[in-house]
Amino acid sequence: MAGIIGMKRRVSSNFNDEHDLSKWNDICLITTLAKDMKDTIQVLGSWMFFVLISLSCNQQGSKSDESKDQATDIEVSTLQSPYLVVLGIAQDAGFPQMNCQKSCCKALWGNPDLQKMVSCIGLVDPISKERWIFDATPDFPEQVDLINQVSGIDRDELPSGIFLTHAHIGHYTGLMHLGREAVGAKEMPVFAMDKMSSYLTNNGPWSQLVSLKNIALQKLLDGQSIRLNERLKVTPFLVPHRDEYSETVGYKIEGPNKSAIFIPDINKWGDWEQDINQVIQENDLAFLDGSFYKNGEIPNRDMSQIPHPFMEESMSQFESLSAADKKKVHFIHFNHTNPVLQRESDAAREVEKANYRIARERETYGL
Ligand SMILES: [Zn+2]
Ligand SMILES: [Zn+2]
Ligand SMILES: [Zn+2]
Repeated sequence: MAGIIGMKRRVSSNFNDEHDLSKWNDICLITTLAKDMKDTIQVLGSWMFFVLISLSCNQQGSKSDESKDQATDIEVSTLQSPYLVVLGIAQDAGFPQMNCQKSCCKALWGNPDLQKMVSCIGLVDPISKERWIFDATPDFPEQVDLINQVSGIDRDELPSGIFLTHAHIGHYTGLMHLGREAVGAKEMPVFAMDKMSSYLTNNGPWSQLVSLKNIALQKLLDGQSIRLNERLKVTPFLVPHRDEYSETVGYKIEGPNKSAIFIPDINKWGDWEQDINQVIQENDLAFLDGSFYKNGEIPNRDMSQIPHPFMEESMSQFESLSAADKKKVHFIHFNHTNPVLQRESDAAREVEKANYRIARERETYGL
């Protein structure tokens, strides 16, 4: 159902084999260059050196591919039909979070390979070569480059459109990169609900994106589907959240064979008019708010003011689901304090032992 796309990029998971493979390839490249220099001095000796290094690189590549498959436990997408790709998994403020020198973030400063980008998923149609991004995060430039690499599209092309969930910093501020000071996009379709559209239209600096036609707002209605092409359909649905500036939506994304739900931010499940267990049962994949693992995770802060469903609560809410339905659940949008960001933590093991998944950057899911 899913796989991880291998590539070189600035940010990659420390628990992901691609990173090691990428590093190894860099070493191979350096050693091959060194070999070219050696050629001019001693042709025969360096040729043997090259053969040995090449063999070694290839062996390392296959070993890494094997462990990659084991790690994902799911088949690699053929990428011949539409698919989703995870472009970021952190809460709005990223991982590490500014100023944090606690054990969650300390080792990540100055170590981009360990860092995670803000919660975001991409939708790719390899037939039409179109790509859409769900939320324009503070990591928008990296995420556009990542989806282009994953889809094999020219890296200087912008996405076909952007769907926004709401007006909190991790979900729309990446739009600034479309403006006059940046790429100066031409009428980039930005799909947003009514209040979200008004917020962008009536508040600087976002209003300039609208007046200069860097973005072209496409208004969404609750429960009303947008057909992207003959294979893909997207439907927004309202969810309860701290709606200071806009309403908040989740999305249902439907491909030719499967459907996925994306709800990065929501209040407690009981506050929602829909039954989340039924929603999971009716879809094939569910990327759900995993901001906090449990109550008390942020010391000295009243967590009732940020009322997300704790992962512990979600897991007990989903307890009655079958194992197959539980496996559809991919937690995403992790606060820097959430221990599941550390893949070897007890919390991460508990989640996976209970048949749920923790979303990983670059994972793909065929639709
Ligand atoms: Zn958020
Ligand atoms: Zn931290
Ligand atoms: Zn939010």
